[in-house]
Amino acid sequence: MTDLEVPVLIVGGGGAGLSASMFLSHLNVPNLLISRRPETSKIPKAHMISQRSMEIFTELGVADTILEKGTPAENMKSVAWYAGVNGDHDGYGQRLGRLDTWGGGYTDADYVAGSPCRTVNLQQLHIEPILKNHAESYPFADIRFNHELTSLEQDDEGVTSEVVNRGTEERYRVRSRYLLGADGGRTVGDLVGLKMSGETNLMRMVSTHFTADLSPYLKDEDVILRWLINPEFGASIASGVLVPMGPTQWGTHSEEWVFHLQFPMDDPGAFDGEKVLERIRATLGIPDFDPPIHGTTRWVQEGMLADGFQAGRVFLLGDAAHRHPPMGALGLNSAIHDAHNLCWKLAAVLGGAANPDLLNTYEVERRPVDAANVKQALESAMNMFRIDAALGISPDKSSEENWAAIRPLWTDTPESPAKRHVVNKAIAAQSCEFRGHNTEFGYTYTSWAIIDDGSPAPEQLDANRLYLPSTRPGSPLPHAWVERQGRRLALGSLTADGHFLLIAGEHGDAWLEAAEKIAAETNLALRIARVTPLNAVLDTPVKFEYIDIQCAWQRKREISPSGAILVRPDRFVAFRSMGSVNDHQGALGAAFDQILRRTTNVASE
Ligand SMILES: Cc1cc2nc3c(=O)[nH]c(=O)nc-3n(C[C@H](O)[C@H](O)[C@H](O)COP(=O)(O)OP(=O)(O)OC[C@H]3O[C@@H](n4cnc5c(N)ncnc54)[C@H](O)[C@@H]3O)c2cc1C
Repeated sequence: MTDLEVPVLIVGGGGAGLSASMFLSHLNVPNLLISRRPETSKIPKAHMISQRSMEIFTELGVADTILEKGTPAENMKSVAWYAGVNGDHDGYGQRLGRLDTWGGGYTDADYVAGSPCRTVNLQQLHIEPILKNHAESYPFADIRFNHELTSLEQDDEGVTSEVVNRGTEERYRVRSRYLLGADGGRTVGDLVGLKMSGETNLMRMVSTHFTADLSPYLKDEDVILRWLINPEFGASIASGVLVPMGPTQWGTHSEEWVFHLQFPMDDPGAFDGEKVLERIRATLGIPDFDPPIHGTTRWVQEGMLADGFQAGRVFLLGDAAHRHPPMGALGLNSAIHDAHNLCWKLAAVLGGAANPDLLNTYEVERRPVDAANVKQALESAMNMFRIDAALGISPDKSSEENWAAIRPLWTDTPESPAKRHVVNKAIAAQSCEFRGHNTEFGYTYTSWAIIDDGSPAPEQLDANRLYLPSTRPGSPLPHAWVERQGRRLALGSLTADGHFLLIAGEHGDAWLEAAEKIAAETNLALRIARVTPLNAVLDTPVKFEYIDIQCAWQRKREISPSGAILVRPDRFVAFRSMGSVNDHQGALGAAFDQILRRTTNVASE
């Protein structure tokens, strides 16, 4: 029996746990990560890494490796629906519709203006080893795969966990101040009594990962997801989704692929490898298709949310706290965002800068965002059926009837204009999944670690698709490229390494002085920036000055030239003053007191 003591024990070595370890190590917090399998995931699951996640990975120094191995932007611009792939009928392979995906390979103006990073596509089985290598590179991290948590108990001072080394069957106890349950919902939630509620067993999915040269059969190099609707079967979910996996060639020339098929929950065929392969052959229309198969995963689509994300000193994150259909690519991304929200707070508490109460805001801030993700992913999954209805095809119709229903899409008939409109409308509606920019990127927080400035919430034109940048407290800091002494950087990157960021306008010197005094007096990690519009730049250099080189900040800042914004280390706006105040140091000090819960007379939420 070996006993260990560590500030934070992380249970689970998937996207959530590995991200948490990197964040904590990056902020100099020693952590132990245990994960029960000997290696990272071998099955293809998540593959879309959002702009927000790439911003976070940029800060951690791991984004370049992910970009290098990921899909080139030109091969991930769209998703498309096809009438099968290959076969005798002249309609096979016809494209029924297409949509831009997650910024259309960084060509959508909102995505370009929104973030310095583009969405990246790389399968989870390739991402996790990159994250693991990076997590292991920090001296503050102890990463142990093949080690499993079997029990835990907590008291007022900490958590005592029992761990088994599955390689040697040696058992040992770990004493930690806090425990992060990033175990996909397998152990920790039950041990601390945090249940999950929602809808489960919605659909059974079978995902097959294989190597094959499909380039002779496929077209459209810019498509990343192909919905193959074979009129023989008659419905998109009943047919299949084909996803390229690279690893060195992309587009139609990808060497590896994943084929997702849906089966009714009670269909034993889902567990019969030969039947699964028959469905793939029939959907592709390649009768002798017999590729080398690397693995087959069976999983159910569900929409589940933990009743709470915190029990004492134990926190749930990632799939342990919420599970939803992959529509919208919100799973792995929200796991990373959970960890990002929690870890700067843990570092602030363990480092003595914040009262432990700050940790209570993790659940208050993240649970509503994750609940919205669950709801949106379920809606996107259900919306897919509207496409089948618009196409007018069904498994209950004959293949002749199904072909006749979709032929007007590519052959001019009197029905074509109406048919094309109806199908286009249904496919455009699926942008709820592929262009959920506000859901995936523009989500906001409300808690007492965000200081309400009394301004009304902006009117949402489309709460899922449209991200409207704002500096209203609780919003993510809007993106702007700025320059300092000839060096260009993203304004948001100034929060790197756990820093608060005070941004003042060109007449906000009193805010800059106040921030400088607070940083010196309190030892707070605080960066200071005066962002000056181009028409106000002086000939002589000004302290803390960054030039608003593309006028982006001027357009998005909302504050007056004498106002200021305080940004948290996770890049969310915590406090805003639209203009000058009587006592700048007092106002800023009070803001820090509230955010970090440093005084006791702060109102609870
Ligand atoms: C087919 C499919 C496609 C998807 N596509 C996307 C996508 O495009 N984008 C996206 O964002 N999401 C997607 N997702 C969802 C995404 O894969 C998950 O949300 C993500 O893997 C969650 O990460 P996690 O770290 O929370 O959990 P997991 O990846 O499940 O990791 C949990 C870890 O905990 C370990 N563990 C469990 N119990 C213990 C224990 N007792 N002791 C120690 N370790 C333990 C496990 O071994 C595992 O390593 C998809 C999912 C599927 C199934």
